[in-house]
Amino acid sequence: MLHEKLASIYDSVLRRNPGETEFHQAVREVLESIGPVLGKHPEYAESKIIERICEPERQIIFRVPWEDDQGEVHINRGFRVEFNSALGPYKGGLRFHPSVYLGIVKFLGFEQIFKNSLTGLPIGGGKGGSDFDPKGRSQREIMRFCQSFMTELYRHIGEYTDVPAGDIGVGGREVGYLFGQYKRITNRYESGVITGKGLSYGGAQVRTEATGYGCAFFVEEMLKARGTSFDGKRVVVSGSGNVAIYTTEKVRQLGGTVIACSDSSGYVVDEKGIDLDLLKQVKEVERLRVDVYAKRRGGDAVFVAGRSIWEVPCDVAMPSATQNELTGRDAETLVRGGCIAVGEGANMPTMPEGIRVFREAGVSFGPGKAANAGGVATSALEMQQNASRDSWTFEFSERRLQEIMRDIHGRCLQTADEYGMPGDYVAGANIDGFKRVADAMLSLGLI
Ligand code: GLU
Repeated sequence: MLHEKLASIYDSVLRRNPGETEFHQAVREVLESIGPVLGKHPEYAESKIIERICEPERQIIFRVPWEDDQGEVHINRGFRVEFNSALGPYKGGLRFHPSVYLGIVKFLGFEQIFKNSLTGLPIGGGKGGSDFDPKGRSQREIMRFCQSFMTELYRHIGEYTDVPAGDIGVGGREVGYLFGQYKRITNRYESGVITGKGLSYGGAQVRTEATGYGCAFFVEEMLKARGTSFDGKRVVVSGSGNVAIYTTEKVRQLGGTVIACSDSSGYVVDEKGIDLDLLKQVKEVERLRVDVYAKRRGGDAVFVAGRSIWEVPCDVAMPSATQNELTGRDAETLVRGGCIAVGEGANMPTMPEGIRVFREAGVSFGPGKAANAGGVATSALEMQQNASRDSWTFEFSERRLQEIMRDIHGRCLQTADEYGMPGDYVAGANIDGFKRVADAMLSLGLI
């Protein structure tokens, strides 16, 4: 239920942004949490902070023409939504996926504002991407696309302006091509303009692993708060990209067993525990599908085509594929199967009905903006290292990441307590993330 003033703000968001369903969903979830804050802080409503936060500072949409290996010309659409710069330069990844349209970029950018705020680091919120489909494209096609994309994007970004990184479909390879083209056009070695770079040209230790490791650290804290740990737990991690792979790696180091992973074709159950070297070989090196993993693994590993991974019973679920991948019914199945904790590695993977089911069942639910903040937090550490022309060790960087995740976990719980919703990480994350941005905006005048 929405507070009266918030309901009218939400109506106006619906009216002003027609058809952008994912953006509506992300806004609604935040508005549902911040009702109690308005009671305590009338100054937020008086200065229309919420209305301002829901309106991006700038939205850029551009043409990306490129030529495939056969010489055929393709036209894609590029986006960068510069949502909020009250806390620092716009910061957030680029997503290359055929589903990308303005509504997806805006939902991601909106989430990013609060996530980045929660990290406690000086980064604003933004997001971008393209409806380009990298699946099946050759290395040269990917490079040509990235170069064309950056040929427009370069004029909008900069280490003090807007700092992109990766997201779905954009990993180390793409970041390299993007940075290379930026450097060429501007004739500046401006390392801090993009994060997720390779270690040989200004990248940071642990950035590759950070989202997954951070999510595992966050869930470890949630389990600790329930008086338990990963030890001996059966864990299901959906997806098989960067987040899923490094979540699996850290969960295993923390004593849990990841027994399933997936991609858009279906899922694999491997009761002995996912073989990480094989998964990395299949997904990161050869860029193939998870059925290939099952075939090569043999033994007990089974590939199940076209079904939901959430039918696999587990103690801990870590949705790490994409938005709205876990429905209300999936949540009921998980609860029936004994699931006690959920950590979102992806952005908004659980549908609102699913969150309700988990909340009512007393499942510890770590929303993406808190649980997956380790990726962007480590990007901010990469920016710090670039600015000081320094590079930190793996151990030191991982320790920083773990401290940041513990701090986010602690603040979510403390804020939820303060507002009379003990154990509600969604409320805690939304309120804490919102307040820092709102206070900065109040201080900066009518911006
Ligand atoms: N795409 C990641 C996220 O959703 C990381 C963004 C970044 O490092 O800037 O937070």
